Parts: sequence; structure tokens; C-alpha cells
Amino acid sequence: MPDDTPPQPPAIEVRDLHKYFGTAHVLRGVGVRAEDGDVVSLIGSSGSGKSTFLRCINMLETPSSGQIFLGGEELDLKPGRTGLVPKNRRQLEGFRSRLGMVFQSFNLWQHMTVLQNVIEGPVQILGLSRAEATDRAEAHLARVGLWEKRDAYPAYLSGGQQQRVAIARALAMDPRVMLFDEPTSALDPELVGEVLKVIRELADEGRTMLLVTHEMRFARDVSSRVLYLHQGQIEEEGPPAQVFGDPLSDRCRAFVASVH
Ligand code: ADP
Ligand code: MG
Repeated sequence: MPDDTPPQPPAIEVRDLHKYFGTAHVLRGVGVRAEDGDVVSLIGSSGSGKSTFLRCINMLETPSSGQIFLGGEELDLKPGRTGLVPKNRRQLEGFRSRLGMVFQSFNLWQHMTVLQNVIEGPVQILGLSRAEATDRAEAHLARVGLWEKRDAYPAYLSGGQQQRVAIARALAMDPRVMLFDEPTSALDPELVGEVLKVIRELADEGRTMLLVTHEMRFARDVSSRVLYLHQGQIEEEGPPAQVFGDPLSDRCRAFVASVH
């Protein structure tokens, strides 16, 4: 039987993204495509443009050129002072609410409790009632193992716990795609595992994600595809077995061998 279901647009697609900071050309035509359920990892040495790429996707930075699609819908961009800016605030807000970002430095609101951190987006942006948002937040906190910390302030939590709250906060928006920028790099080594465990569970459940990480073994285990960035370009791209096991690029081979 021929399969006549129409092809689904990818969950996320970025085409030919360039970014200049002044005269520095830090992204030189980077693209990525993830189908629903894909985990795409970005690896590469410090300064290769990984964070800038993720930040351009949700417009925390202005790309200089390129296209961004979520679920087949293109983000409308127009020239602005430092690069392309969204034409339409509402569309940008819609895009952002479908992109769950988790930063290296957690970025929790320090003056809010754990629960308040998690319900803020659903109440303010999705328009959920406090009661509904609280119910859902408690479920997300339970799944990252932090239900009992719901009334604590972030300063009283370990880095691993804060990062799990940040993941619960991203999940509470029910994003189409999650963007992780080195989520374990700021953690003491003994706290890395508890955060990777949560990310692995999300991957196993079919969450679509773009993951910047230096945890090579983890990336090898969870990824559908891996991109190796060097000086703002994709130098190697493929399934994890290729990129980690038998890369075409000597530079990629040396990089992978140098990071543990
Ligand atoms: P990575 O995340 O791979 O370490 P980044 O995306 O942070 O790399 O940085 C890529 C390059 O862009 C680096 O050379 C960095 O110094 C430069 N860069 C990043 N952010 C800015 C900025 N806001 N202004 C100027 N240069 C920047
Ligand atoms: Mg970075």
C-alpha cells in the first residue's frame, strides 16, 4: 500500500543562518532540521557559535540573514538596527511560547518561588487560570523530582535542582521544541547526572529538542543527529555513530577525542 498521508512539516527548520557581530561573521550559513521526536545535538569548541545559533532561533539575538520555521510556519522577519527583527510581535510571542529554552545558568526568577517560576508563563502568556496552571506545574515538578520544593526560593536549591526547575518551567509551556544550551555546564560534577536523567526521559518520550552539550557520551546516546560546528559553520553532520565514531572531518575527530 502506498503511504498517502501528506508529509508533515518538520517541527523546526532553520535555513542558512548568518550572524555578524559588527564585522565578526560568527554564523556562516548554519541550518538545521528536526522532525517531531528528533534530538539534534550541537557540539563544537567554545566560540564556534552554538549559543548564538540557539539565541537567534528564539530571537534573543537578531540573525543577519536566514529563515526560521516552526511546524512549517515561517517567522516573518524584516531588517532592523542590528539584524533581522520580527515583523509581528504576536507571531514572535507565538513562536517563543512554542520554544522552551533552558540556559546554562538556569535563569530562574530569584524573587519567585519554584511554583511561581513554573506557573508564570502559563498564566501570563497562555492565559491559564492560576488553579489550572498550579495543577499542571505540580505535575511537571513531580516529574523532575521537585514537587516537595514547590514553595522554596531558587537560592535555597542546588544547581541541579535549579536546572530541573528550569526544565519544568520550559515544559509547562508545552513547547513544540526544546532548546538546551549546555544545561549541565554550570553544575558541579555530582549534579550533572540528575539533570541528564531528566533530559534523557524527555528524549525517550519523544520530545523534540536541539541540545548544545559537551557531554559527548550523552549526546551519542540520545541524539538522532549530531552537528559539529567550527567557526560558525557545520563542519560535520550525521548520525551519532558517524560523528563520534567515524567522522569525515579530521577536526571533528580531534574535537571529539579531546572532550570527555
Ligand atoms: P559558543 O556558544 O559555541 O561558545 P558563541 O555563540 O557564544 O559560541 O560565540 C560565537 C562567537 O560570537 C564568539 O566569537 C563570541 O565571542 C561572539 N559573540 C557572542 N556573543 C556576542 C555579542 N553579544 N557581541 C559580540 N560578539 C559576540
Ligand atoms: Mg555557548
